[in-house]
Amino acid sequence: MQINDHAPFDAYVPCAKRYDSMPFRKCGNSGILLPAFSLGLWHNFGDFDNLGQARKVLRTAFDLGITHFDLANNYGPPYGSAEENFGSILDKDFRPYRDELFISSKAGYDMWPGPYGNGGSRKYLMSSLEQSLKRMRLDYVDLFYHHRPDPDTPIEETIGALDSMVKQGKALYVGISNYNAEQTKQALKIFKELGTPCLIHQARYSMLDRWVEDGLLDVVDDKGVGLITFSPLAQGLLTNRYLNGVPKGSRAANENSYLALDSVEAQLPKIQQLAQLATQREQSLAQMALAWLLKDNRVSSVLIGASSPEQLKDSVGAINNLAFSAEEQQAIEKIIG
Ligand code: NDP
Repeated sequence: MQINDHAPFDAYVPCAKRYDSMPFRKCGNSGILLPAFSLGLWHNFGDFDNLGQARKVLRTAFDLGITHFDLANNYGPPYGSAEENFGSILDKDFRPYRDELFISSKAGYDMWPGPYGNGGSRKYLMSSLEQSLKRMRLDYVDLFYHHRPDPDTPIEETIGALDSMVKQGKALYVGISNYNAEQTKQALKIFKELGTPCLIHQARYSMLDRWVEDGLLDVVDDKGVGLITFSPLAQGLLTNRYLNGVPKGSRAANENSYLALDSVEAQLPKIQQLAQLATQREQSLAQMALAWLLKDNRVSSVLIGASSPEQLKDSVGAINNLAFSAEEQQAIEKIIG
């Protein structure tokens, strides 16, 4: 392609075999099936990113059987731009397939100035959902989350707002994210009283961050709520990306990202050992890290990010080897502790 190349993107025709290989899992006790891998748009879909690449990543995802795309009001940068760009790509490529897609958004972090653009108030959540729908050019979202607990808002008000969204038909399902086990129990009690199920909890979980194993996994399992795990590759640490230094254009090379150079350095010895194990399993390190999460049936879907179609294909390739021998599990435990 040259700088003056006027060739447009070819019209998108999804792969006819898109449902042949992706496993789907039941989300808690609900009737919803989620793909083993879902795609998150936190990074790589903002106005400062390569939107041609972003469009290719979305097409590749759908072709691979990924039906669930996860957004939030503040994904970008700037805030809101990931939703806007997603809406624009949806119109160009995915509008005929809307009913094959499960699209989520969230509110909970700071989004606009003043007292109503952050937290967990009814005012913030209801307005934010309206804004997200406009940006994404949607009539409804399939799933809307409260993005993080807000200690300054009564939990009844926050969960009540989620309940209203469902009753108004603006969200088909609702969920919570980043609530600890105790906060989750409180939220689920209120959902139950209101008669609206909580579909899913979205929590960080990877070989390098196992906090959900201390209670949250049991709570969601016990109550029939699904669990979708974010940053399963620890933002790229659990891949081959940093084995030979910090490449230009990577997340750790971006000083404004949440992946600090210090953590690359600190985790490298573990990552190198894990990479050796992955080679023995004839998988990439990313594939092994993702398979490791899917061995737990309580995980409904693993929510990955990708900056290129190649990364996405590599990650989804994990489905070709999801089993671990007892020896492999022990060896991994020894490394990650
Ligand atoms: P990952 O842990 O999957 O990290 C994704 C990054 O890892 C990519 O951008 C890329 O980094 C690198 N990568 C991915 N695949 C490969 C591969 N096969 N080989 C080499 N490198 C690879 O997830 P994210 O941290 O992006 O989170 C995923 C999603 O989770 C988000 O988009 C969002 O939807 C959700 N999330 C939710 C949060 C919440 O509070 N609820 C918080 C954070 C995320 P590079 O860019 O360097 O190429």
